[in-house]
Amino acid sequence: MSERVHTLWWSDRALLPEDDAARPLIPYGNGRSGGDCCVAPGGGTRLDTRGLDRLRHFDPVRGRVACEAGTRLGDLLDFLVPRGWMLPVLPGSRRVTVGGAVAGDVHGANHPTAGGFGAWVRHLELLRGDGRRWFCSAFENPDLFRATVGGLGLTGVIVWVELELKAVRGPFLTRETVACSDLADALRLIRAGGERWEYLQAHVDVTVRGRRLGRGLVSRGQHAGPGRHPPPPWETQRQVTITPQVNLMRPWVGRLYHRLHHRPQPAGSVHYRAFFFAADCWENWTRLYGPDGLLHYHGLVPEDQAVAGLGEILDRLAASGLAAAPGRLRRFGPNRTGGLLSFARPGFGLAVDLPNRGRATLDLLGELDRVVVAAGGTVEPGRDRRLDPAAFAAFFPQWDAMQPYRDPAFASAFWRRVAGGIS
Ligand SMILES: Cc1cc2nc3c(=O)[nH]c(=O)nc-3n(C[C@H](O)[C@H](O)[C@H](O)COP(=O)(O)OP(=O)(O)OC[C@H]3O[C@@H](n4cnc5c(N)ncnc54)[C@H](O)[C@@H]3O)c2cc1C
Repeated sequence: MSERVHTLWWSDRALLPEDDAARPLIPYGNGRSGGDCCVAPGGGTRLDTRGLDRLRHFDPVRGRVACEAGTRLGDLLDFLVPRGWMLPVLPGSRRVTVGGAVAGDVHGANHPTAGGFGAWVRHLELLRGDGRRWFCSAFENPDLFRATVGGLGLTGVIVWVELELKAVRGPFLTRETVACSDLADALRLIRAGGERWEYLQAHVDVTVRGRRLGRGLVSRGQHAGPGRHPPPPWETQRQVTITPQVNLMRPWVGRLYHRLHHRPQPAGSVHYRAFFFAADCWENWTRLYGPDGLLHYHGLVPEDQAVAGLGEILDRLAASGLAAAPGRLRRFGPNRTGGLLSFARPGFGLAVDLPNRGRATLDLLGELDRVVVAAGGTVEPGRDRRLDPAAFAAFFPQWDAMQPYRDPAFASAFWRRVAGGIS
């Protein structure tokens, strides 16, 4: 049975479908997860929150903003940055909604110091399947709050959120990129850079093995003060307009990209859109993976396992001949929000996109799962489409602590798959 869609407008008056036949329900932000956590299972209803896009309140003195949950992060920044405020945690796409950022407890390149997006939520309002509204914060209904932050929409629909902001002196950041010769070098540069730089991540070549395993570029940035800066980039709308019949993201494309683009750059000024949202410059870029699309994988291993664990993952990726686009390496700190399904914990995470080649890709990801389990790490659930109950339980042994808070009217295709039928 196909998914139904129910659109929510106006946070104060939003109503859920009452018809039992329309259930289960699952909130939909803007689908940027690419996972099936925002897909309603068999005949259920997707609650489209994109109509909930109004600003409710802005406090320019204390640095607080309250907005409806379907507000896109980019639109919120367009309002905040000229007023001297910034969101303290940003994922790599400005098209993510505030509700999706809370429900995924999304992370940026500053996780060790800033935590996840949820760490900056002061209050939120949750609409449950029985029509009741719950005001949640770290102090009010704190258990429901912890289950909702990073809770992948399973506790109800977030209708509005109040966020704490970070003061900035303008829209620009100072950025520099330095080459890393291998994985150990990348880890060392990221660790050492934390003393001075706020945002740190590496893009590593996933097509090479041996001595060059983990080679790439470490990019580091911090907010800049007023001064002379280049003009802001246009809102980019370059489109991949056709879906090629075959996957164009081949290892040789990745190596060519590495050769052409991976050059260190001295410190320079960059607009926040180009700094945080480079991936948005192409709309529909996932089409390059052909009609079968891609699978996203993000494995995180503890600090002391980073060289061995991530080294093995990179080696298997290169040996598979499937991986092409550079992998993103970030350092993580503790899970400050306590979100029950938030995956962050101290360590290093490697995120990669792989072409969906059916069994070959699934087998490779199964191998990577085993490496991550052996290293005592975890896999990000929010962008997943294929974890099975055993793997999910290995990564989230406490997963059934969600059950008392999960709304019985809510379930996603993801939850049906990983919770082993308990839904
Ligand atoms: C180019 C790109 C770069 C990215 N970079 C990063 C990154 O750096 N760090 C990172 O953490 N993630 C990153 N992501 C992933 C993305 O930030 C998360 O998957 C995010 O949760 C997607 O938000 P969305 O609004 O599109 O929600 P959707 O994808 O529609 O939904 C995601 C989950 O949130 C739930 N949800 C959505 N809205 C609500 C609501 N109002 N109430 C309750 N639940 C809700 C859904 O049910 C679902 O479980 C990136 C994605 C892209 C496309």
